[in-house]
Amino acid sequence: MPIITTKQPEISNLFTNLIETNRLQHAYIFEGVAGTGKYEMAQWIAQSLYCQKNTNNQSPCLECNQCLRIQQGDHPDVTTLAPDGLSIKVDQVRAIKEEFSKSGMETRRKILIVKDMDKMTMNAANSLLKFIEEPEGEITIMLLTTEVQQLLPTIVSRAQIIHFPVRDISIRIDDILEKGIPREAATILAYLTQDTDRAVEIYESEEFNNIVEIVWKWFLLLHKNKDQALIYIQTDIMTFGSNREHASLILDLLILLYRDLTAICFEQERIIAFSKHEATLNEMASMKLQVRLPDILTLILAGKKKLSRYVSAQGVFEQIALNI
Ligand SMILES: [Zn+2]
Repeated sequence: MPIITTKQPEISNLFTNLIETNRLQHAYIFEGVAGTGKYEMAQWIAQSLYCQKNTNNQSPCLECNQCLRIQQGDHPDVTTLAPDGLSIKVDQVRAIKEEFSKSGMETRRKILIVKDMDKMTMNAANSLLKFIEEPEGEITIMLLTTEVQQLLPTIVSRAQIIHFPVRDISIRIDDILEKGIPREAATILAYLTQDTDRAVEIYESEEFNNIVEIVWKWFLLLHKNKDQALIYIQTDIMTFGSNREHASLILDLLILLYRDLTAICFEQERIIAFSKHEATLNEMASMKLQVRLPDILTLILAGKKKLSRYVSAQGVFEQIALNI
């Protein structure tokens, strides 16, 4: 059996099988939220195809010259296309078509990986479409996207869609722990993002630990002393909350706390995000609170929506504090 080294073992198995039986198609759409391993998979497939040590079409060694060059984005037959600024433009697609047709005389297989396919302009997508319909030589195209509904229907109909499922929370926590992040933070981060690298980035921002602390204190005040909770918005929450990204993080953390409480109240099976405070959360759980939790979550989610529409963060926080 091949050793599977990707985040999505089932998809790896599928492609190992397709390569082995020579049934690889021209075009695939890899669809799934950020962090589900789409680009990693595209590279892994390319490595499976080119690996020097992979003599019986199984898993790539990840060590040979070919594998390493693909990993570094420096392989002559594997091209990655990504947005130039906000979009992937028609000139970028044309340049790649030209490059591919130049080397079309050779019989070598070519691979094109397109990151953020949903950011491709209409013109560029139409140009790419012709490429998918009439490929020169042996070409495999992998289109990566978080929003398949944004793609041109004519492209979708000519490609096979591979859905990348969200990975289990306990696996995500393990991945983050492996990066040397303490468990208390890792459980929270695993709920905030699917993407391990992004989790590390959030953790390493100097504000993260402080924001987690102030949200916890605010949460306690919201249930002990409403007046103080309102004052706390001005004195502490807004120290971070004036930054949009931080304001959004504050609400995400608050949502996590109420999801923790919901799980405890309804005895749902869930890894508690704020594991450090599990005992206190258990003490807070009551029938009185239990009936209000759905409304509280709706209230905070509405606040998040307002925040994305550039309503003042302080106003959003105050609305939440008044209505919890
Ligand atoms: Zn190799």
